[in-house]
Amino acid sequence: MCKYLVPSSGMINILQPTTRCLCVCRIHQLRNYQASMEAAGLSVSFAGHRPLSRAQSSPASSSFPMVVQEPPAKPRFTTGLVYDSLMQKHQCMCGNTTSHPEHAGRIQSIWSRLQETGLRAHCECIRGRKASLEELQTVHSEAHVLLYGTNPLRQKLDCKTYMPTQAFKNMLPCGGIGVDSDTIWNEVHSSSAARLAVGSVVELVFKVASGELKNGFAVVRPPGHHAEESTPMGFCYFNSVAIAAKLLQQRLNVSKILIVDWDVHHGNGTQQAFYADPSVLYLSLHRYDDGNFFPGSGAPDEVGSGAGVGFNVNMAFTGGLEPPMGDAEYLTAFRTVVMPIANEFAPDMVLVSSGFDAVDGHAPPLGGYKLTAKCFSYLTRQLMGLAGGRLVLALEGGHDLTAICDASEACISALLGNEIDEHSMMSHIGFLRSSFEAYCAYFFFDLSVHATSALQNSQKNILACLLQN
Ligand SMILES: [Zn+2]
Ligand SMILES: [Zn+2]
Repeated sequence: MCKYLVPSSGMINILQPTTRCLCVCRIHQLRNYQASMEAAGLSVSFAGHRPLSRAQSSPASSSFPMVVQEPPAKPRFTTGLVYDSLMQKHQCMCGNTTSHPEHAGRIQSIWSRLQETGLRAHCECIRGRKASLEELQTVHSEAHVLLYGTNPLRQKLDCKTYMPTQAFKNMLPCGGIGVDSDTIWNEVHSSSAARLAVGSVVELVFKVASGELKNGFAVVRPPGHHAEESTPMGFCYFNSVAIAAKLLQQRLNVSKILIVDWDVHHGNGTQQAFYADPSVLYLSLHRYDDGNFFPGSGAPDEVGSGAGVGFNVNMAFTGGLEPPMGDAEYLTAFRTVVMPIANEFAPDMVLVSSGFDAVDGHAPPLGGYKLTAKCFSYLTRQLMGLAGGRLVLALEGGHDLTAICDASEACISALLGNEIDEHSMMSHIGFLRSSFEAYCAYFFFDLSVHATSALQNSQKNILACLLQN
């Protein structure tokens, strides 16, 4: 995230009453519009339709008068990928990508890398789709979904009634608009791109959950894990991973879902969505610095509420960048905390909020850690041992193009089952054992607050194990 951002920005708070009023106003307008159109015999769909391209719909010449519709080929049981270039169109009106690190080049570069390296050919590329408004509302409020998910209708209303651009977004110093300097808004394309990101993740997750694909990686943007029920922030509008998890529960009756979040920032939106839910274990590793790193949430004692106590695990790194966290710390966190808890939870499906901003190459305000891309292939490999291998990684943050391309390549290679140089990783763990005391000062995972949880025994064992090392 960006240095401009602080949690609970005063500006946003000041705007909230006005925004709420306009939201309510706008929902009434949308409903009235829908009712009047239906009364006139016209159905109104909030979903936009993609125009059919020539490649999808018709032959290139008239020499083939008969178009034989081939049934869609059954996907190979391999790693699935999902990507759509329409997600590139979510760009600030100012057109200057240097001031907006979450830009279109991120997914474009990753997709090109996967082509160049031949990995794409080994995977099954599936088509994404826009999430429906109903799907978005599994996590987000109706007002939030209508405000940020219904672009075509908004444009009609804009002309006649009021100007929602000014109602819920700010003019940015760059000349564009957004809810803040990071979370930009493109009046024409943002709602479609954000819904496409969600729908693409959902499609991939369902194909893996139902056994059509082995596992998967979603090359999507804008990211989602900061988006809360009614608040867009930190580049995020709709929480793709959280929505996919809710839909797995509702439509496939998946009973236990593990969400691992290894983006360098805490996934406040995902934590909020499942805070009281013991059937979704949210496990985040993030830079925390006693609440001084964006978004400021993710303290170790945020452990869930009600029945969900113990099913929200924040491995919050504090201590700034002296030294910055690296492979050794993350590998040890996985070995001593993530995998023991995950094994005990025994999930039916694993989703990863896969930001790569902990990879070396991200300046301190946006990361500052020094993980290697290779480390993420090793972490991926470990998660493949859970849930019968049903694992989907969805891109979240990360803006250094080399870093995110390298890490995506490494993770997809691991998902395909390619060899990993485990020897170099194991040497890190050896190093870590000998420097445990130094590490302990920076690694905060409050075991006492999990006392009433089902994971209590496992965590006591972890503590014992940590203290012995
Ligand atoms: Zn701009
Ligand atoms: Zn991030």
